[in-house]
Amino acid sequence: MAWADKQQSADLVLTGGTIVTMDASMPSAEAIAIRGDKIVWLGKNAESSHWIGKSTQVIDLKGASVFPGLIDSHAHITSLGTSHVTIDLVGTTDLESVLTKVRERAAASGGSDWVQGRGWDQNDWPEKKFPTAADLDGVSNGHPVFLERIDGHAAWVNSAAMQLAGLSAATKDPEGGKLLRDEQGNPTGILVDNAVELVASKMKALSKQEIIERTKLAAQDALSKGITMIQDAGSSQGDIEAWREMVEKNELPVRIYSMVWMPSDFGEAYLKGGPKNYGTYLDVRSLKLILDGAMGSRGAAMLEPYVDDPGNKGLLMWKEPDMMRVLKAAKSAGIQVCIHAIGNRANRMVLDAYEKIGVKGLRWRIEHAQLLSPQDIPRFAQLDVIASMQPTHATSDMPWYADRVGQERTKAGAYVWRNLLNYKTIIAGGSDAPVEDINPIWGLYSAITREDHDGKPEGGWLPEQIVTREEALRMFTVDAAYAAFREKDLGTLTAGKLADMIVMPENLMTCEPKAMITMRPLYTIVGGKIRYQSK
Ligand SMILES: [Zn+2]
Repeated sequence: MAWADKQQSADLVLTGGTIVTMDASMPSAEAIAIRGDKIVWLGKNAESSHWIGKSTQVIDLKGASVFPGLIDSHAHITSLGTSHVTIDLVGTTDLESVLTKVRERAAASGGSDWVQGRGWDQNDWPEKKFPTAADLDGVSNGHPVFLERIDGHAAWVNSAAMQLAGLSAATKDPEGGKLLRDEQGNPTGILVDNAVELVASKMKALSKQEIIERTKLAAQDALSKGITMIQDAGSSQGDIEAWREMVEKNELPVRIYSMVWMPSDFGEAYLKGGPKNYGTYLDVRSLKLILDGAMGSRGAAMLEPYVDDPGNKGLLMWKEPDMMRVLKAAKSAGIQVCIHAIGNRANRMVLDAYEKIGVKGLRWRIEHAQLLSPQDIPRFAQLDVIASMQPTHATSDMPWYADRVGQERTKAGAYVWRNLLNYKTIIAGGSDAPVEDINPIWGLYSAITREDHDGKPEGGWLPEQIVTREEALRMFTVDAAYAAFREKDLGTLTAGKLADMIVMPENLMTCEPKAMITMRPLYTIVGGKIRYQSK
């Protein structure tokens, strides 16, 4: 550190703690100094006084621990905000409790407003069967009802919603989508993957102001749990316009890295125009495609049929030539590609496509990479493909995973973090919020235990795939920053980098794993500003 720099005091100094930097050149420190939006110094408590001037804010950590700000590599910002204003059905344990919530909201809603909710999961109900429109009709009070499944890959609607969309026995399944039907061929009210759009398109798009409000709700949720940057896995034109306005007004409290949604007209224009940067808070340099569905609604594309649905191998939303056209255009525009692939067939298709294109050094990603065929596991590292994975999906899906795909495929390829790391694959950690809670500490917990919050199954589900704390933290810091081309200014606590950090009451590297379930940050700091402080 040059003496000239030391003449000027810092704006904020944290002292008296354990600072875990994730930077190999200086793994730990006791104090840290911030000036403007950057880290200017890390070192011993005794030296921190050099940085403290008249107007310096000093936080005595009293033994608390500091970590780099956690990065969510895959979440849906606007949907997360929406989940805070629509009916929350996450964790509902039977059909009846869902209907009660819908009845209450429908009774309180005006005119012909849509009643919206999300988060139901028939796997959590005793019936384990998909519900129907008829179930909702009795409680909807004349409103159209749209309830998104927990995974975002299916919707449950009532008859009024189906009428507005003109759905009947004559409606054909769209490409990459499916309407569940009764024996007479009438739609039952469950729409899978691309069929969701048949009804969703009848609801009016969010205004810019609504997106801004929902982004603020999502950001507060994220900050309160230790997230300083969210990588948005599928942004619309409206999202990006709203965020640009927030950046201009200095109103965006978390950093956003945007993957533009494809297929869309906006995405096509972006393929011609290339990446855009709007300062340190907003980057638009990636593209998101969804190749298959999800495991919970049996839409994930499989090499062999589902064990509990023989004859079904899932759904593909893209034809190979269409996907290749987009990938080629993205490569020549310098745009990163992130493709959602859950089933082993979808993962192989993406790896094959990336191999054909040649993606070394491009940091192209596969989002989820949940079920891999063993022969495809080494290909991530060989082809230089980032696996963007969500540890909490593993611990949410584990009760029914083997019922869907069988023991053998599960053991060989489900959420194989350890195997991927053994080949030196970069894994970027995320939550897929609002599919899962955005809490990254829960992500760390799942990654190091593979147990649920009750500690089940003891020793972990497929424990051979457990990772170390250091590796888990890398997924949500260093490697998440790398996956967004931000390793030069984010991901570690290093002098010269942006001052994004969290203060935790205990050391995540040494605490009881169980303590992670309830542990929340004391402070979340983004660009040197305290954006969240626990009460
Ligand atoms: Zn997602």
